[in-house]
Amino acid sequence: MNTLVIASFNPHKIAEYKAMLPPLPLEYRCLRDYPMAVSPTENGRTLQENAMIKAGYAAALTGRWAMGDDTGLEVAVLGGAPGIFSARYAGPECNAEDNNRLLLENLRHFTGDERKARFVCCIALVSPAGEKHCVSGVVEGRIAGKHSGIGGFGYDSLFIPDGFSCSYADMSAAEKNSISHRRRALDLAVPYLKQIAGL
Ligand code: IMP
Repeated sequence: MNTLVIASFNPHKIAEYKAMLPPLPLEYRCLRDYPMAVSPTENGRTLQENAMIKAGYAAALTGRWAMGDDTGLEVAVLGGAPGIFSARYAGPECNAEDNNRLLLENLRHFTGDERKARFVCCIALVSPAGEKHCVSGVVEGRIAGKHSGIGGFGYDSLFIPDGFSCSYADMSAAEKNSISHRRRALDLAVPYLKQIAGL
């Protein structure tokens, strides 16, 4: 059976992928399964480049097909910020709480449609021989005025997807996983995953 390495240490992201990945004849691993693995420097200029960097690093390290992803929250009125800097919006050592606080602060004068935002998820698949595929999924929504919900991670408690009145964090894991930016990108990756599985 072929192996696919999820190029991440993030337990939330790994759990979402493990719940969403299709039941193919593939053994799914992650970077936590490789003691020598480190986090590669995400110095790409786009989400796609960062997804490629993560997948390329994991494929070279493990000698297996690898899947890297990079996600950005893009707020139009903030010029697309935090975007590629979503993980370190409030600074290099900041955590999700700091990022969310800064986002609410920067949006304090904006209401209604001015709070429109979208999550973009780019998934890269890279083989040890350098074969590459990249897909992306988008979910439009808006940034709430205050936190809601206890599920999820990152910006989930502030993001209300279009068509919903609750945040990602108010949803069950299964519900978020059925509509999320990650789900949309992963659906587009399935044909490549089937090839990797030899189907
Ligand atoms: P990365 O893709 O792990 O680099 O994530 C970039 C930033 O976006 C981090 O701050 C994550 O916490 C956040 N993020 C990634 N995926 C999600 C999500 O599904 N919901 C909310 N925040 C997310």
